[in-house]
Amino acid sequence: MTPTAEAGIVGRGNAEGARLFREWFADLGTAAEEGRPSAYVFVMGSLVELLRTFDLPVVFPEINSLQTAVRHVAHEYLDEAEDYGYSPDICGYVKADVATQLRGGRLPMGRIPKPAIAVHTNACNTYIKWAEIWERMYGCPIVTIDTPGSRADGVRPGPGHADFENDRRYVVAQLEELIPVLERISGTAFDIDRLRETLGHANTMARGWRRVLELNAARPSLFNALTDGTIYLGVSNCLRGTAEGARYFEELVEEMELKSAEGIGTLTEELYRLIFVGVPCYPIFRRFGELFTEWGGTFVGSTYLWFASGGANGGFQYDVGRPLDSLAEGLLLGVRDAMDSMFFHTDALLGMFDAFGADGIVYHPIKSCRTVSTGLADSRREIMSRADTPSLFIESDMMDRRVVSEAQLKNRIDAFFEGLASRRVKAAAGAGH
Ligand code: SF4
Repeated sequence: MTPTAEAGIVGRGNAEGARLFREWFADLGTAAEEGRPSAYVFVMGSLVELLRTFDLPVVFPEINSLQTAVRHVAHEYLDEAEDYGYSPDICGYVKADVATQLRGGRLPMGRIPKPAIAVHTNACNTYIKWAEIWERMYGCPIVTIDTPGSRADGVRPGPGHADFENDRRYVVAQLEELIPVLERISGTAFDIDRLRETLGHANTMARGWRRVLELNAARPSLFNALTDGTIYLGVSNCLRGTAEGARYFEELVEEMELKSAEGIGTLTEELYRLIFVGVPCYPIFRRFGELFTEWGGTFVGSTYLWFASGGANGGFQYDVGRPLDSLAEGLLLGVRDAMDSMFFHTDALLGMFDAFGADGIVYHPIKSCRTVSTGLADSRREIMSRADTPSLFIESDMMDRRVVSEAQLKNRIDAFFEGLASRRVKAAAGAGH
C-alpha cells in the first residue's frame, strides 16, 4: 500500500460518515418541505429494514436531539420544553424533541418532517410515553412492537428453543399487523422482494460493524470508540438497509484492516486503553474526549456502540429466504442484546477487558437517562468484586449543560489517570523484584 493510497483510506470513515449524515438530513429537509409522510423510530429496534420498503423517510428523534447538544444549543430546546410544562427530570432527548416539534420541526441542521406514524419497541420505557406525545400532537398512529427481552442475566434462549420460538411467533404476528398500517400510511403496497433487498444491505452492514468493533482490539487501537465510534454509529442507524450504508461499512472494514496492518493508531502515543459504559457527554463532547486523550487514554470499546446500534454489533445475518420470520428473529435478538448491554453487561465487560487488553473502565451515568444509568453503580461493584479492574465513576448528562461541570469531571479523570500511572509503576517495580 503506497502512502498515497493510505492517505485516501485513513480517515475516510469519519469524512464519509459526516457526508452521509449531512445528505441523510438534507433528504429529511426535502421531505419536510414537500409535506411527505415520515416514520419516527428509535435506535433500539428501529425496523428501518421494513419501513424503507414503503419509501417512508425515517426520522430518529434521539439522534436529532443529541445533535442539538453537540451544536451547543440543547439548553434552548430544554428551556422551551420545560416552559411548556415538561419536568427538568425527564429524558433530555424527549424535551429537545418536544421543542423541535413546537418549532415546526426546525433544528440547527435543518428541518424534519412531521410523523405520519411512530413505530417503536419497549427497549426503553420512555419510547412508549414519548410516542404518545406525537400521537397527541399530530393524531398519528403509534405502534409498539412488544419485544420480549432476557428474563434474567444469563438466561438467553436462542433460535430453536421453545421459549424463543414462542417469542418469535409473537413478534411475527405484530409485524403482520403493522404491515397493513404502513401500506395505508404510505399508499405503497408491501413488496417482500424489496424487504429481501433491505435485509441484504443490513446483513452487509452488520457484518462490517461487528468486524470494525473486533478490529479495535489491535494495539495501538484503530479508532476511539467514544468519538469516532459515534460517527460510525450514526451511519449504522440512519443508513441501515441501504446500499450506501452497506458500502460505507465495507469501506470502513478496509480502512481498519489497513490501519491494523500498518500499525496506525488513533493516538500518536497510546498509553491507556479504556472501555466506556453509558452515554457520552454531548454538551461538551469534544472537550469530554480530550479529558482522556490528553493523558494518552483512548476508548477501545463502549457499551454505547452496542445498545445504541440496537444490538447490531452482534452481526446478526437475516435469512432472506424467509424475510418476515427472520426480521422478527433479528429484532428479538437485537433488542434483547441492546437491553442486555444496558442492564446485564458485566460478563461482556470483563470479557472485553481481557480480550482488548484494557487498563480501566469508565462509567458515565447521566441524569436524564435512567434506563441506561440506574444499574451502573451495581455493575461497577460487581465488576470490582470479580476482578482487579480499575474503574472510574463520573456523572453528568448527555443533553443538560446545567449538570455538566467540566472542572469536576477533570478533577476525577485526572485522579483516575494518576492512579493508573501509579499502578503501572508499582507493577513494573514488582516485576523488577
Ligand atoms: S431514557 Fe435513555 S434510552 Fe430512553 S429514550 Fe431517553 S436517552 Fe434513550
